[in-house]
Amino acid sequence: MPETDAASTDSASTTSTALARAAEVPVPEADAIAGRFPLTANPSPVAEDERQAVLAGLHFGDRFTDHMAHARWRQGEGWGDYGVIPYGNLSLSPATAVLHYGQEIFEGIKAYRHDDGSVWTFRPRYNAARLNASARRLALPELAEEDFVASLVDLVRADAAWVPSGEGESLYLRPFAFASEAFLGVRPSKVVDYYVIASPSGSYFTHGLEPISIWVTTEYHRAGRGGTGAAKTGGNYASSLLPQQEAYAQGCDQVCFLDDVSQKNLEELGGMNIMVVDADGTVRTPRLTGTILEGSTRSAIIRMLQDSGRRVVEDTISLEGLLADIESGRVREVFACGTAAVVVPLGHLKGKGFDARIEGNEVTRQVHDRLTSIQSGRAEDPYGWMYQLVPPHS
Ligand SMILES: *Cc1c(COP(=O)(O)O)cnc(C)c1O
Repeated sequence: MPETDAASTDSASTTSTALARAAEVPVPEADAIAGRFPLTANPSPVAEDERQAVLAGLHFGDRFTDHMAHARWRQGEGWGDYGVIPYGNLSLSPATAVLHYGQEIFEGIKAYRHDDGSVWTFRPRYNAARLNASARRLALPELAEEDFVASLVDLVRADAAWVPSGEGESLYLRPFAFASEAFLGVRPSKVVDYYVIASPSGSYFTHGLEPISIWVTTEYHRAGRGGTGAAKTGGNYASSLLPQQEAYAQGCDQVCFLDDVSQKNLEELGGMNIMVVDADGTVRTPRLTGTILEGSTRSAIIRMLQDSGRRVVEDTISLEGLLADIESGRVREVFACGTAAVVVPLGHLKGKGFDARIEGNEVTRQVHDRLTSIQSGRAEDPYGWMYQLVPPHS
């Protein structure tokens, strides 16, 4: 599990985490690691005009590129069989372990096209380190961080024509690894497959920066102490689907979870972290307790806000306190953040016995604009967060 040393007695300080430190280690430039996943070209790629039609009407997660990156791990041998291969269905035994016991991890990271035609990604080493942190918790083998980045380089170079160029558009990359041994005994799999698939995407939420409404569930939790909440694993999402349905039934867009011990403190949404903006300008976010997924977006936003001179606090945020602060005007904005949706204002917080409206979105908008302009190459990147996958058109 990632180090979560944020329980500082000085609640005003934010601490550097193991993942944030891992993300600072430089990655060799793409040309130096390209080719580790050799290309077997798809003999029947999607036709040019069909691809153009897909790129002209983007959704999220429903179309995939011509190739996928792949590697296989075998106990006693380690990782091998590296390649970028034609995108296609997998053939699995019905006894494949992941289908029964859910030994699986994944990542989400985007590739952005800049004006000169080059393609970039955001802090890939953060995701590489997080995949390995998740792997440790799920008893899966770790993948060398450079190989993780190389898989993105080789896949995006093969499918560069699929990277859209419109505002807010990107090629969403989904690395994942799972127990692929055909075996029903309960133990870590002796065979593990790693893939990266890619999906051109528009905006995650169809209504852009429009505020969304949140159902705060007091009945279900997404994670428990000692569980897998800090790992990016499908099981956490599986357990969030029923409460998410409850949210829809209540007329809300997303569900927010409370911690399972006190059952009073805000944790996060099903797939996004949350932040609260006080009237005095302070930004607060739930501290990492081991049951919260440590978002790359969360980490980048904390850094940008601190650099802009703002006070950022990782703290315990009780639902009761938040509702009182919204009512009194001490809290002006609440927003959610994650790679897929970037930054989304929360306009409405609803649950059993409460229904609160939040009007403000000034800081939310600033954070959104600052982050997306760095990612799209419209603003300079003072942090070295951007990593070039594909050079400019020559
Ligand atoms: C992926 C994820 C996030 C957001 O992480 P990013 O790295 O910012 O995309 C937040 N919460 C959960 C539960 C997640 O799975």
